[in-house]
Amino acid sequence: MNTPESQGSALKSECVNASSVLDNLTNIIDSAMKNQYFSMVYQPLFSMQNSKLIGFEALIRCHCPQFGNISPDKLIPHAEESGQIIELGEWIIQQVLLDLKRFLQYGLKDIVISINVSAVQIANTDIFNQIMTLVERLDIPTRCIKLELTETALIQNPKVIAKVFDAFQKEGVQIWVDDFGTGFASLSLLREFKVNGLKIDKSFVDGIATCNDDFTLCSAIVAMAQRLGMHIVAEGIEDEVQLQILNQLGCDTAQGYLLGRPATFEDNLKRWR
Ligand code: C2E
Ligand code: CA
Ligand code: CA
Repeated sequence: MNTPESQGSALKSECVNASSVLDNLTNIIDSAMKNQYFSMVYQPLFSMQNSKLIGFEALIRCHCPQFGNISPDKLIPHAEESGQIIELGEWIIQQVLLDLKRFLQYGLKDIVISINVSAVQIANTDIFNQIMTLVERLDIPTRCIKLELTETALIQNPKVIAKVFDAFQKEGVQIWVDDFGTGFASLSLLREFKVNGLKIDKSFVDGIATCNDDFTLCSAIVAMAQRLGMHIVAEGIEDEVQLQILNQLGCDTAQGYLLGRPATFEDNLKRWR
């Protein structure tokens, strides 16, 4: 029976569960790697101009039999802190490039897949060789790969990151700044790093139709990106009005639940092939 007591104890056990997940994250990540509890899902991105599918953003999922689904917002920062992101990041890159190869083989020829990378991965691994070795082995065109890094991550190790970016861009891999506008270095980093595009953070998109300041910030970001010759993706679009406004502002690419939620490789293949 759903009495206030049972609700209370359900809530209590949820809290206990949540705090034990946090306490155990290192073990959970280790066990998830051993037991293959990780998987990748892919969220579609669309051209604002003609509504065509442009590609996907790869997002990690973790389902543990004991704890259920663990959010990447908890998992990734912990893995960065513990150093586990190095092994996990390697797995992500391999899985995504294998799936990209399969998408291409099934006829989704012109897609670009975005991989989220962490500053820890760039500073502590040879991510350039990791990706380029797989690209060669799998015979994947580099124009199909985009790396996303948040602006906060960019400023952690600017010299190393700029060098790695440069190497990737020379090979044709695009570099994008994620969550643009939420960090502390938005403008100065655009001078320091040559990036191909920006993703406007969902928090600005949320208020674009209802909050004057958010509208003004979004239009300024789009205008600036256009003048600098960068592409711009708006993420987290949840309704038609947001989509229309961003389209009118001149945003190039749209991503959000309105247009498509993250889904498995197989579901995306069924839908977009
Ligand atoms: P992000 O890179 O900003 O990814 C976008 C997040 O917004 C995803 O959450 C996506 O599912 C969600 N999203 C997209 N459209 C909508 C929408 O219309 N409404 C709402 N409410 N949400 C939307 P997710 O998958 O939970 O990932 C959260 C964060 O975890 C990511 O934010 C990224 O920072 C990190 N992350 C996820 N996968 C990876 C990965 O493979 N590697 C790394 N390094 N980080 C990852
Ligand atoms: Ca991202
Ligand atoms: Ca983002």
